[in-house]
Amino acid sequence: MSVLVYLETENQSLKKSSAELASFAKALAGSEKTIGLCVNASDAANFTSYGLDELIVIDHPAQTLSAEEVAQLVAAIAEEVSAIKVIIGSSADARYYGSLIAARLSASYIPNVAAIPEQRDGELLYKRSVFTNKGYAYTAAKASRIVIGLSKNAFGIHENNQPLTLSQRSLDLDTPKVRSEGVEKASGKATIADADVVVSAGRGLKGPENWGMIEELADILGAATACSKPVSDLGWRPHGEHVGQTGKPVSTNLYIAIGISGAIQHLAGVNTSKVKVVINNDPEAPFFKAADYGVVGDAFEVVPQLIEKLKHFKAQTA
Ligand SMILES: Cc1cc2nc3c(=O)[nH]c(=O)nc-3n(C[C@H](O)[C@H](O)[C@H](O)COP(=O)(O)OP(=O)(O)OC[C@H]3O[C@@H](n4cnc5c(N)ncnc54)[C@H](O)[C@@H]3O)c2cc1C
Repeated sequence: MSVLVYLETENQSLKKSSAELASFAKALAGSEKTIGLCVNASDAANFTSYGLDELIVIDHPAQTLSAEEVAQLVAAIAEEVSAIKVIIGSSADARYYGSLIAARLSASYIPNVAAIPEQRDGELLYKRSVFTNKGYAYTAAKASRIVIGLSKNAFGIHENNQPLTLSQRSLDLDTPKVRSEGVEKASGKATIADADVVVSAGRGLKGPENWGMIEELADILGAATACSKPVSDLGWRPHGEHVGQTGKPVSTNLYIAIGISGAIQHLAGVNTSKVKVVINNDPEAPFFKAADYGVVGDAFEVVPQLIEKLKHFKAQTA
């Protein structure tokens, strides 16, 4: 028996999320074999630090696989390697193909898992975030097989160097009913889904002409930019940057909120981020209650100073 973990790729490289997924798979597997599966990953041989025993790399002519194809592939390999547990991530794609894999394997699908399962009253319970990350539910799998969707940044990366067996092969998949022929990013910058750091700003910025300093701060930190809902509703920023209950969920290591009040609908989308820094000129802004670090001050004074300090720090450490 083994634990199978599906690792997404982008531009023929394993995505950043792979390290956390493999670490989780290793912890869950215990003495069982931990097997990774990915498609078209040219850097697979270097993926030796996170406890995988084997990494199966599928060569496929398509740049991106459809959800149907991923489900077919993962289910076929899960059968082949007798995997009882299949681990996937929490990307928008994963939420879709997770249910398709489970249907193919007649497995239980538990998404948003936040920790290694615990034994309670004779059952293995999976802690998972619910209600837009406002609470946790403990869920037991009723099928003998299980597909586990791990929440981003919930488990962390645990290094575990060990020899990796790499097997590269192709696999015929049925022609999907829908295929994306390619993915084009709106800009070359980090995306909210993949970024470790997100710099987000709200209506306190007064207008779109003031986003230069937000982008500069994001550039220095290698961060993605985001915004509150009214900011995208007003057309100051693209809708793809709107985070919160009705926007994108953000689960980063560092979330910097500038001129955002901290309404519950905004917090719902960001409260699983590890460290939250709030810059707001109103000491009573609700966001300060959820913040790890807070700066009470005018964004137009604080942000340029922060940029200068970071530039200075970078120059010293370069
Ligand atoms: C059904 C529903 C769903 C919603 N979904 C979302 C969602 O997904 N995401 C979301 O963001 N919102 C959502 N909202 C809207 C939400 O309720 C808030 O209205 C919104 O988040 C407020 O945005 P804001 O903080 O940018 O603006 P404001 O509430 O106007 O806050 C601006 C903040 O900037 C501060 N500020 C002003 N000037 C400065 C300065 N010079 N320097 C520093 N700080 C300054 C102010 O003190 C204030 O705290 C939703 C609302 C509803 C009803």
